[in-house]
Amino acid sequence: MRPWVFATLAGACLAGPLQAQVPTLSADTQAFVKVAQPLVAITHVRVIDGNGTPAVEDQTVVLRDGRIIAVQGSEPVPQGAMVIDGNGHTLIPGLVGMHDHMFYPAPKVNPEAKEALYPEQGSSFPKLYLAGGVTTIRTTGSTEPYTDLELKKAIDAGKIPGPKIHTTGPYLEGIGSYTPQMHELVDAADARATVGYWIGEGATSFKAYMHITRAELAAAIDAAHAKDIKVTGHLCSIGFREAAELGIDNLEHGLVVDTEFMPGKQVDVCPDARAAAAELAKMEIGDPRLRQLIALLVAKRVAITSTLPVFETFVPGRAPVDPRVLDAMLPETRTEYLHTRDQIAKKSDSPWPALFKLEQAFERAFVQQGGVLLAGLDPTGFGGVIAGYGDQREVELLVEAGFSPVQAIQVATMNGARFLGEDKELGSIEPGKAADMVLVRGNPAQDIQDIENVVLVFKDGVGYDPVKLVRAANGTVGLR
Ligand SMILES: [Zn+2]
Repeated sequence: MRPWVFATLAGACLAGPLQAQVPTLSADTQAFVKVAQPLVAITHVRVIDGNGTPAVEDQTVVLRDGRIIAVQGSEPVPQGAMVIDGNGHTLIPGLVGMHDHMFYPAPKVNPEAKEALYPEQGSSFPKLYLAGGVTTIRTTGSTEPYTDLELKKAIDAGKIPGPKIHTTGPYLEGIGSYTPQMHELVDAADARATVGYWIGEGATSFKAYMHITRAELAAAIDAAHAKDIKVTGHLCSIGFREAAELGIDNLEHGLVVDTEFMPGKQVDVCPDARAAAAELAKMEIGDPRLRQLIALLVAKRVAITSTLPVFETFVPGRAPVDPRVLDAMLPETRTEYLHTRDQIAKKSDSPWPALFKLEQAFERAFVQQGGVLLAGLDPTGFGGVIAGYGDQREVELLVEAGFSPVQAIQVATMNGARFLGEDKELGSIEPGKAADMVLVRGNPAQDIQDIENVVLVFKDGVGYDPVKLVRAANGTVGLR
C-alpha cells in the first residue's frame, strides 16, 4: 500500500519562492527532499497541535513559503497548491529534543581499550534526528563543541540535512571526569572564563556536570545569565535544592540523579553512584520530602528534562530490541550493545526496576504540582538509544508514566519551544509559525506507538523523506 498519495495541481517547481524564507538547499540536501513546493495543502488530516488539546479530525493544513498559513476544517485548497491526502494520517509538531547530544558511546572493539569515549556522530545523527521527526534539538552538553557549532552552520545554510540546533557549550565538569573529552574546571574563575569564551564562539546554553562545585556553578550561572543564556545540569556533587537556590534553570534526568537524599552526603562531593541509586530506590513517591523538593523547583521555575529511554536500557529485560536501532548501528556497536543488554538482563539485584518506576511517578507528580517538564533521549549509557528513535521512545515512555498522548506530545514539542524562547516561532501547529511538522501514519492520540510511523518530516516547509535519511545513516552509528 502506498503510505500517502499526492497530486500536484500546478506543475512541480523545486525550490523557487521557498528561497525567500529558506536557504538554498545543496544538491546533497535536495537528495533527501520529497516535497519542495512553496505551497502545500495537507487535506483530511488529523491534527495534534502541540498545545495539549485533543486531536482534531479532518483538517486542511496549508503551508506557504516555509510557514503554516492555515489550519482549518473547511479550508479550501488554494489554487496552485500541491495536495497531500492526509487520510488515515496525523500531523504533529516537529519534536523539540531537549537532551539530544550529537555524540554516542564508541564501541571498545578491543576489550582492553577501556576508556569511555563519545565520538561525534556528525554524519548519522543529524539525519536520524530529522528522520525521527525531531526538527529542533538542544545538544545539552558537548564533547566536540566546535563540531556541533559547525554542524549547526552547515544545516542552517542548507548544506546538509538536519534539525535546527541550539548548541550547548562543553560540559562544565569539575575534578573527576570519567572521559578525557571533558575539561576539568579548576575554580570559579575558570568556570566564568569558559562560559564567556564559548558564548563568544556561539554556544547558547550550558550544562553543568557531575563533579562541579557550588562556587563553580554559581560563577557559571552568573556569567551565562548576564548574557541571557540558560544553564542546565546533570548534577551529582550538588543536590537539586542547592542548585535551585543557586539559580539553575533546568535539571537533567530527574530524581534518579539527585543525591541530596543520600545519608552522609558531603558538600561538593559526588557520592558513589551505586550506593546513591540503591538508597534512592527505597524512596516512595508519597514521601513528603519529594513533595517539598517539587514545590521548591516549581517556585524557582526550574524545568526538568525527562530522559526515560536511557534509563530504560538499565532495567533488566526492559528496552525492546528495535530492528531500526540495530540497523542503524556499526556492526561492532551492535555486537557490544546486544552483549551488554544480555548481561543486564541477567541481573537479579538491580535497583533499576524500582528506580525507573519512581522516576516516571516523579515526573508525573512534578507536572501535577505545576512543574515544566521537557523531553529528550540522552543517547549515552551503554548504547541502544539512538537519535530520532530514542526521541520517539521518550514520548511513548511518558505515556506509560501516565501522561495522555497529547500531553506527552506537548511535553516533547511546545514545552521545549517555550523553554528555548522559541514558542512564537515553533513548537505547535498554528498559523504564522514555521512549518516544522511530522506526518505520521495512524493516530498517536489513540496508540502512541504510531509516532514511529513517520511518513514525511517538514522543516521550514520542506518535506524530507525519512526513508532516504535512514538509509544514508544505517550501519554507521557508533563510528560517524
Ligand atoms: Zn546527557
